[in-house]
Amino acid sequence: MVEEAKLIGTLKEYFGYDSFRPQQREIIKAVFEGRDNLVIMPTGGGKSICFQLPAILLPGITIVISPLIALMKDQVDGLTANGISAAFLNSSQKEQEQQEIFRKIEKNEIKLLYVAPESLQYVDAVFSAGNISLIAIDEAHCISSWGHDFRPAYTQLGYLKNRHPETPVIALTATADKATRQDICDQLNIPHATHHLSSFDRKNLSLEVRPGTKKFEQILAFLKGRKSESGIIYCLSRKNTEELATKLQEKGYKAEAYHAGLSHNERIQIQEDFINDSNDIICATIAFGMGIDKSNVRWVIHYNMPKNLEGYYQEIGRAGRDGLPSSTLLFHSYADVVQLQKFAEGSGNAEIQLAKLERMKQYSEALSCRRRILLSYFGEIISEDCGNCDVCKNPPEFFDGTILAQKALSTVYRLKEQEPISMVIDVLRGAQNAQVLEKGYQGLSTYGIASDVSWRDWQQYIIQLINQGYLEIAFHDQNKIRLTSLAKNVLFEQEKVSLADVTQAELKKQPVVAE
Ligand code: ADP
Ligand code: ZN
Repeated sequence: MVEEAKLIGTLKEYFGYDSFRPQQREIIKAVFEGRDNLVIMPTGGGKSICFQLPAILLPGITIVISPLIALMKDQVDGLTANGISAAFLNSSQKEQEQQEIFRKIEKNEIKLLYVAPESLQYVDAVFSAGNISLIAIDEAHCISSWGHDFRPAYTQLGYLKNRHPETPVIALTATADKATRQDICDQLNIPHATHHLSSFDRKNLSLEVRPGTKKFEQILAFLKGRKSESGIIYCLSRKNTEELATKLQEKGYKAEAYHAGLSHNERIQIQEDFINDSNDIICATIAFGMGIDKSNVRWVIHYNMPKNLEGYYQEIGRAGRDGLPSSTLLFHSYADVVQLQKFAEGSGNAEIQLAKLERMKQYSEALSCRRRILLSYFGEIISEDCGNCDVCKNPPEFFDGTILAQKALSTVYRLKEQEPISMVIDVLRGAQNAQVLEKGYQGLSTYGIASDVSWRDWQQYIIQLINQGYLEIAFHDQNKIRLTSLAKNVLFEQEKVSLADVTQAELKKQPVVAE
């Protein structure tokens, strides 16, 4: 058993901190008890210390499996600078370099040894050469194809516990959903691991979702008064990152694009410029951020919708690691949803991916406290609304939307459930475009019965009707809108429908558009 004073002393001496964060102490003690542990802690929560501090005090070597080969050198340099003897092994090294490391392993001169999951072949040699005290598996969710970051090389890691059952394992991740958690433990062969779950509530992050129209104008308005603050804008495509960065530069902002298509050196340079505050804004694909330790990111914008809430949570979590108030903004658009649906359908496990996307969509369209929805996704229930999301700050007003609902549902009915949202709206609004006229829809009795409601408002109302279960989208049939069994209550039995007043909510939300 390890004494408290020793733990605190080591924390201070090697990391410069006076006290542990919530959970760190318990986790570290459990490591010293020789148990297997699964640590679920949000990004920025302080997972590294949970294995680095034990590594310093344990008699032998701690092997760290980490997916980020590109960052291993930085991690090792950082530890070395703190007086902790660390090294890494990967296939890019020269034979001689590796021999030198093995010599140190034999002499027990290394405390932390980073190994990429692709380089597991070294591990047996490490075990025979040295005294191994602990195996740490960072970003452990990469083992699960249910997670959002699946790395095939991780699936070999179950081998470690099979081969070396006496060595305790600590697996760490910021992904919390229950199915993935179980999958991690199953695949790593640590069925009896103690699970340590930290709160996912990051109260200092404000949450906001806005309709994805005139996004660039909205971004400029958002950036007003945020000059020279650090922020990240996540985009779905490389092209978007570049276009946005260019447009921001033209407006006088220090912005750079970051994506996997850039060379290694370019990416390193961009990361460094951001970390040193010589650049303010990164327009990035999701390739950016993993392992980036920058505490003063003041805001994160999602230019496009992420494909699930884990990814979203992880990405917004890069803001405000220093605990100071920070803002997040997500642009929600139906076009993104459709595109993400296509990706999900083409993926290996379409059913799960589509279900996750559906949760993401519900979050974006929420008319109740967003933080509650987000945290409940991670299995955490908060008893009160957060007061720091756009819905809490600006709760929607509901009105009797029965007539609007009847108009929409009967239009879907007249269209024989054969058309997507856009056509339903065109008919409701009496649009004169070629598609409408070719199909002869101008002759329908509902044609133009609601031209006083704007196109965008209709889109919002129809999404609400979908969320309330009156309509559904046939994803496998060209996204045609269909009536559900609930719809007939509205059409034939006078059932009342409440709708959130999107015109009001939108008016309140629309920023002043900057020139
Ligand atoms: P994670 O891996 O969970 O995303 P890190 O281990 O990178 O988080 O830690 C996030 C930040 O918090 C780092 O800057 C780290 O130095 C800092 N940190 C970790 N533990 C403590 C602590 N006990 N006191 C103060 N800062 C801490
Ligand atoms: Zn809220």
